Amino acid sequence: MSTDKLPFLPFALPEIGEEEIAEVVDTLRSGWVTTGPKARRFETDFAAFLGDEALHCIAVNSATAGLHLALEALNIGPGDEVITTTHTFTATAEVVRYLGADVKLVDIDPATLNISPAAIEAAITPRTKCIIPVHYAGLAADMTAILDIAQRHGLKVVEDAAHALPTTHAGQMIGTLASDATVFSFYANKTITTGEGGMLVTRNAALAARAKVMRLHGINRDAFDRFTAKVPSWYYEIVAPGFKYNLTDIAAALGIHQLKRARDFQAKRAVLAQAYNEALADLPVVLPPAPQPGELHSWHLYVLRLKPEAALQRDALIEALYAAGIGCSVHYIPLHQHPYWKSCYALRAQDFVHSQTAYEQMLSLPLYTRMSLDDVERVTTAVRQSLMS
Ligand SMILES: *Cc1c(COP(=O)(O)O)cnc(C)c1O
Repeated sequence: MSTDKLPFLPFALPEIGEEEIAEVVDTLRSGWVTTGPKARRFETDFAAFLGDEALHCIAVNSATAGLHLALEALNIGPGDEVITTTHTFTATAEVVRYLGADVKLVDIDPATLNISPAAIEAAITPRTKCIIPVHYAGLAADMTAILDIAQRHGLKVVEDAAHALPTTHAGQMIGTLASDATVFSFYANKTITTGEGGMLVTRNAALAARAKVMRLHGINRDAFDRFTAKVPSWYYEIVAPGFKYNLTDIAAALGIHQLKRARDFQAKRAVLAQAYNEALADLPVVLPPAPQPGELHSWHLYVLRLKPEAALQRDALIEALYAAGIGCSVHYIPLHQHPYWKSCYALRAQDFVHSQTAYEQMLSLPLYTRMSLDDVERVTTAVRQSLMS
């Protein structure tokens, strides 16, 4: 198949429909563009989507903000240690440093690419306060083991669910488990998007109350409350030095309609992932880890690993695919490889063997709802030609 006449196939693209556009326009015409009725509705809809209206859902302007707010509300601070995976985006760990606490990076389970429960247990010290698992690529981390470790050691758990909408563990939606908080991302390339945005989800009313105050400058009453209150609206109190993390109604307008499509988006991604699996199975590659039977995998990412006997190495394959008009990426350069994290904690690659090995062999192929099965075939044909040549 000749690929050179085809348009460039990007690595990721959002799918924004007419309903999203109409809702944004409605917001723009409404006179209320910042956090207000649409952000509220998005929060309520989100709890309903997760299947538990008793959950507190707090819309924020990024998952990074949500992670920061969750850890702040859990009183993480100087002297504390927080354990997370090295196989993640820096946002998972940077929020720990915002609060002056220390990050303990640990290795992954090579079978799932998720944080290793055994490595978590081995990293616990008297200073450990919290664990941040990441549901890497949209496959749930081993939450049964992680919640058990947390309970035995008296640790908090904040799930980085930036990839995990919708994902299940043991038949339960991520966001509804017994963690202290779960944070979703609506960044442009995530499974649903508001451009930039996130959702902090918790069962803990005190944590929710603190996060709501800290989301908007430490004000004990939000602007829309004051705007719509029946009493004089000028008075408020600052109860803490808060942040500016609120989600605008313009962004929430997108989120309301993206959320309605999240199940269909997941189904489409699963079909595309299955097509990749079938077309690539006989090549010298390790296919992405599959979910347990009956579990939902969001398929945020399709991460392929090259076996050593493959004709091309990872970097060369990415070059070859790019030359064929196909965008790819790598998720992620592990944190222990980055100058900041490396020098901050004197990290060595040999202490993260599984993440390091996966990193050297892996690439993320394009996977998004606007792709067709023909697009998948175009990618798999190019991968096959490169690996077999
Ligand atoms: C995207 C991402 C984040 C950050 O999300 P933002 O909404 O961009 O702040 C955090 N963790 C992981 C694993 C991510 O992929």
